Amino acid sequence: MRVKFWGTRGSIAKPGPDTTRYGGNTSCVEVRSSRGTLIIIDCGTGAHALGQSLLAANPKGIRGHILITHTHWDHIQGLPFFAPLFVPGNEWDIYGPKGLDDSVRESLAGQMQYTYFPVALDQFGAIVRYHDLVEGVFEIDGVRITTRYLNHPALTLGYRLEADGATLVYSTDHEPHSRTLAAGEGEITGQEERHAEFLRGADLLLHDAQYTAREYPAKIGWGHSPVEYAVRIAQHAGVAKIGLTHHDPMRDDQSLDQLVENLRAKLRNSGSKLEVFAAAEGMSIEVEPSLVQRPNSVAVDTDARSAITPAPADRSVVLAISDPAATATIAAAVEAEKVRLRTFSDASAIPEYLKTEPASMVVLDHRTPGVDGLAICKAIRNGTSADPQSLPVILLADSEDTAGGEAAGVTEWIVRPFSSAYVRTKVRTWTLRTACRWVRAAIPEDEEARLGTLRSLRVLDTKPEARFDRITRLAAALFDVPIALISLVDWDRQWCKSCCGLQAGVISRDESFCAHVVHDRQIMIVSDTLRDPRFADNPLVTNAPRVRFYAGAPLILDNGKCVGTLCMIDTRVRSLEGASIGLLQDLRDLAVQELQHTSG
Ligand SMILES: [Zn+2]
Ligand SMILES: [Zn+2]
Repeated sequence: MRVKFWGTRGSIAKPGPDTTRYGGNTSCVEVRSSRGTLIIIDCGTGAHALGQSLLAANPKGIRGHILITHTHWDHIQGLPFFAPLFVPGNEWDIYGPKGLDDSVRESLAGQMQYTYFPVALDQFGAIVRYHDLVEGVFEIDGVRITTRYLNHPALTLGYRLEADGATLVYSTDHEPHSRTLAAGEGEITGQEERHAEFLRGADLLLHDAQYTAREYPAKIGWGHSPVEYAVRIAQHAGVAKIGLTHHDPMRDDQSLDQLVENLRAKLRNSGSKLEVFAAAEGMSIEVEPSLVQRPNSVAVDTDARSAITPAPADRSVVLAISDPAATATIAAAVEAEKVRLRTFSDASAIPEYLKTEPASMVVLDHRTPGVDGLAICKAIRNGTSADPQSLPVILLADSEDTAGGEAAGVTEWIVRPFSSAYVRTKVRTWTLRTACRWVRAAIPEDEEARLGTLRSLRVLDTKPEARFDRITRLAAALFDVPIALISLVDWDRQWCKSCCGLQAGVISRDESFCAHVVHDRQIMIVSDTLRDPRFADNPLVTNAPRVRFYAGAPLILDNGKCVGTLCMIDTRVRSLEGASIGLLQDLRDLAVQELQHTSG
């Protein structure tokens, strides 16, 4: 992999005589695999020059991927000025963390509203696809990408790229979970160990290093790392080379030189082999497999592209804090995230409560008169039936008890004083991280040809027709279901040619049950969606039309391409067997016949 830096500045662009060597543009990194796959990480102001250079070098068209860590301005401000997005014929995929309310697309569109920018997101000339990410792993043209939430006051993902035998990790914006580690000393446990695992054995680590340990105490909660911490965690993770990035706007070239020199001297004296440098605009390096010890890849097997449920009504925070001011701050943060709150005056009642009630997160006092947070945490870990390790327990304290917390199973510490924004991020990340029972259908292998066939039918977005409505009406009557559909699965949506019993004929592909049928190419019957881990948290199940039962048959045309389904939906638990399945197939065959007639 070849890495080139187009922007290394944090927070705000800072061009000028003091930053000529390391550069004034905000975050943007270009990565190329040996196969030529183009991946851009972050789109700060550095993206402008990158865009110009790509256009000059590729007059015939560009295919690329953009990974956004989060939507703070310094990571997206170059996007409206990234010219390759405006050129017809280019093709881009944009990936970013999925928030509670907004999709990546919506968040990016926000900065391009007319008040802020004259051209809207919809006016990109290139084909642009948006992908919402959670923690997990996915692949882009032979590059394996693992995502991990970072510690920042916005939902932020770090990216670990593995290709050609080499590993690159991009980890900004991030600050230590533990304040004791800020100066680069102390034991690495819990959340810090998890962060180290994400960085493990990287040949090149690009890490947030905005502050020094001396500056950090005034910047706690701002979401950035002191260099001493970045270097310490890199050493612990067996990283070969660390590139410091997200340079503070106040840091001039000379003081960056000095900073790196001091770090190198310290590493030399301690006999460490870790190489350190400060990332500079225009710098280009080859990431090659080094002789570091590392796992082949971080052990993650969930799909990062699986959409996570935004159903915040089903999320809840359990809170027992004696200090009324802290309770009010946390309650406001929970409310702002539209998550339910359950407060307890007696924290010792919580372990019993959790035995029957699900929660997304628990916040407790560490030590107040009559309360031992560690003991309660231990009781929660011992008592809850439903996978206790996956329930985040956060302790509020004046200082961390790292060892005690580790033993009791504490997930994280919030140390006083803390801002409400900080707690809000915690609530957001922890409630989102809870296991999600909603799986997006995979994309079929013959997707391109399949979409070609679908387009050639010329039926998408046409008016309702009696010959199709007849079939869905028959299905609804025969099977006594409230809803029957002839649905077509387009690249980003499910569109219904005929909907009997349903108003809206369009839903996103993420939510589509039929997309599963299109992928599997066989009849799918879901008797009870609430008992199916693929659908239980799907918004079509948790909200209107409250799908409880689904049966869909694939519409496979003569050329073998599956374009959609004939399906039935009920709000009651149902089953479908034997002869009934035969009837569904008969109706499906009629629908296929009508569809092919359209194109003929
Ligand atoms: Zn930033
Ligand atoms: Zn940020």
